[in-house]
Amino acid sequence: MATRTQIVAGNWKMNGSKSLIKEIAQAVAQKKNNAEVIIFPPAMLIEQAVSEGLSVGTQTVSEYEKGAFTGEIQALLAKELGATFTLVGHSERRAIYGESDNDVANKFAHAQASGLIPILCVGETEEERESNQTETVVARQLEAVIEKVGIAALANSVVAYEPVWAIGTGKTASPEQAQAVHKFIRNLLSEKDQQVASGLRILYGGSVNEENSESLFAQADIDGGLIGGASLKPQSFLAICNSAKG
Ligand code: PEP
Repeated sequence: MATRTQIVAGNWKMNGSKSLIKEIAQAVAQKKNNAEVIIFPPAMLIEQAVSEGLSVGTQTVSEYEKGAFTGEIQALLAKELGATFTLVGHSERRAIYGESDNDVANKFAHAQASGLIPILCVGETEEERESNQTETVVARQLEAVIEKVGIAALANSVVAYEPVWAIGTGKTASPEQAQAVHKFIRNLLSEKDQQVASGLRILYGGSVNEENSESLFAQADIDGGLIGGASLKPQSFLAICNSAKG
């Protein structure tokens, strides 16, 4: 099996401040393992976060190179400011801003073409889980991207499984529930390219905190986490980072 360095990523959403960047950078500097830490602050804080020594990404990115797209986040400029990653297809972007699977695939492709590493977020709603649609939904979201960029392109990306019902709700998937979907994702990709599948980092996201992170990160196909609320609390975030393997 490929060795996969675990990632702990913090998605600040529309929260945070210049002073919180400093506090998080100080907390992350005390990390006791080799897990990779990436912060996704609001775009306006990227430059400062980079200058504090953090590895940084944008929370979304435009699928267009440049032009008349008021308010959008430009991949090339994010890269110039020092960002190395971007989230694509976060469930809030899909639900609130109506991003389709096809939009997400275009963003993934443009991010890579611009030199950003995409973290592709996939996951089912509560209704979809209750009607046994989890695998169908996750497969559809992945296939839309693979159809656009090809399976080999996933080697330079990360996937985050984030059940929508677990995001910001305090309802975490159990380690077994999460592992089952992560294994499904890896098997699905393995049918297309075994090497890409075994090297791909698949993060879990959805109400991860310092109490549940260790048991989630200990699962065979869980390679770290995408953390929302708890990534805004420096000591909790540090504890989550320290619970990662690596
Ligand atoms: C997220 O925003 O991706 C997330 C997982 O949020 P939370 O940890 O707050 O559920």
